[in-house]
Amino acid sequence: MKTQLKLLPIPAFSDNYFWLLHDDHQALVVDPGDAAPVLDILQALRLTLQTILVTHHHADHVGGLQALVEATGAHVMGPATEALNHPMDRLSQGDSVTAMGIAFEVLDVPGHTAGHIAFFAPATSALLDTPVLFCGDTLFSGGCGRLFEGTPAQMLASLNRLAALPGPTRVCCAHEYTLGNLRFALAVEPGNPDLQAYEAHCQALRHQGMPTLPSTIGMERAINPFLRSRTATVHESVVQHAGCEPNDVAVFAALREWKNQFK
Ligand code: ZN
Ligand code: FE
Repeated sequence: MKTQLKLLPIPAFSDNYFWLLHDDHQALVVDPGDAAPVLDILQALRLTLQTILVTHHHADHVGGLQALVEATGAHVMGPATEALNHPMDRLSQGDSVTAMGIAFEVLDVPGHTAGHIAFFAPATSALLDTPVLFCGDTLFSGGCGRLFEGTPAQMLASLNRLAALPGPTRVCCAHEYTLGNLRFALAVEPGNPDLQAYEAHCQALRHQGMPTLPSTIGMERAINPFLRSRTATVHESVVQHAGCEPNDVAVFAALREWKNQFK
């Protein structure tokens, strides 16, 4: 009998998470920016690393690739168009890849970087009773990635694509930025009761030293201003703050800029 895959964040650097999915024998890791913490947990749990998934080219997501592949022989799959030296299967929107017995759908989510991809695993009763999303630095709980290489219109389209996934989907972000993001979200939307309750919940988790992640798509739709820029409250709040044109892309761009300046 097959058992449910286990999902856990490996904390690394100051605020990264490398996500690990395993079945007590084989494992998959996402965006390993450093090999050491991954090798430690593989050894502690007696796991064999089968697959490495990569969402984008930044060093805090790929810095451990070479050492991990040398140590484990794991198979690497990553974005089609990002500048990455390591050999890997090159994936883009519409591709489907199988790892750990799960068929992952590849989504193009440009904005943070030009070739950023995300991996979505639908629920399958035997292995995964709830869908999982590995979204790198595109969607954070309560926030989104900075626009280093993409336009606001691209990032808005990418986030809309993620927001359309099933509500129970577990959102596995690559950084623990939640509390800072929620402080900003409350400045944008102070009267949102779901946001107020979620902030209290996340504060309690952090006080206990626990990750706030994974979040869910349903929760992010309720509390994340970057998924809510078309709702009346967020739209009006941004137009009032920034004096921008009241169209979707201008409001999203002004919201991102407001966050960049927020102290
Ligand atoms: Zn990044
Ligand atoms: Fe990052």
